Amino acid sequence: MGDFDPSVPVNASAPRCRRIGVLGGTFDPVHIGHLRGALEVAESLALDELRLVPSARPPHRDTPQVSAKDRLAMVECAVAGVAPLVVDDRELQRDKPSYTIDTLESMRAEMADETQVFLLLGWDAFCGLPTWHRWEELLQHCHILVLQRPDADSEPPDALRNLLAARSVSDPLALKGPSGQIAFVWQTPLAVSATQIRQLLASGKSVRFLVPDAVLAYIEAHGLYRASN
Ligand code: ATP
Repeated sequence: MGDFDPSVPVNASAPRCRRIGVLGGTFDPVHIGHLRGALEVAESLALDELRLVPSARPPHRDTPQVSAKDRLAMVECAVAGVAPLVVDDRELQRDKPSYTIDTLESMRAEMADETQVFLLLGWDAFCGLPTWHRWEELLQHCHILVLQRPDADSEPPDALRNLLAARSVSDPLALKGPSGQIAFVWQTPLAVSATQIRQLLASGKSVRFLVPDAVLAYIEAHGLYRASN
């Protein structure tokens, strides 16, 4: 007993800390681009959970076309039984704008300190970060995974250059600790957007195969996004 075996990692018996991804969005409606992208990131980063977080009143964009209740119900239909994707509805519980910093603080209050949190942001959203409420505090609560398209412009705005120089690591699997670093994840997104889906529905066309069948059934049952809405 007590013999050192070099083939066994020293902390092999220590429980691995939890790894939680966070993808915010309007999800008006949720579609296969969101879901496929989220699943790929969750698998490649071995996340225990990837939370889709529908926003109530997004600070940076137009009011969603359908109610928070319907958007939430569609995301719930979409991820039912699709581990590790889950829905987190905390932003819909607040009667305030959906600031990401508030969401992260509220999530952190429920987690073990060592839990790793990964905030997923598209490149465009990342470039707009300096306009976000208390943006400089975000990395105290999470790592940031920038979802980069192979064809995208990769020049960050000046305000982010120093941050990237100080905090970015080249391998997303090398992100260490609960928060504080930035990594890029290269992804070829599916060419689908919620805007396109709303337009198709408003003109009476089908969105079959652009959204999960359960979401399509919800849209049809509730008559969402028709021209008369
Ligand atoms: P809209 O067309 O109404 O602007 P959207 O389709 O871009 O909506 P959002 O709810 O704004 O959907 O998306 C939330 C996040 O999901 C985005 O910031 C982006 O990172 C990601 N996302 C959106 N569309 C795709 C896609 N086709 N592939 C991968 N990720 C996507």
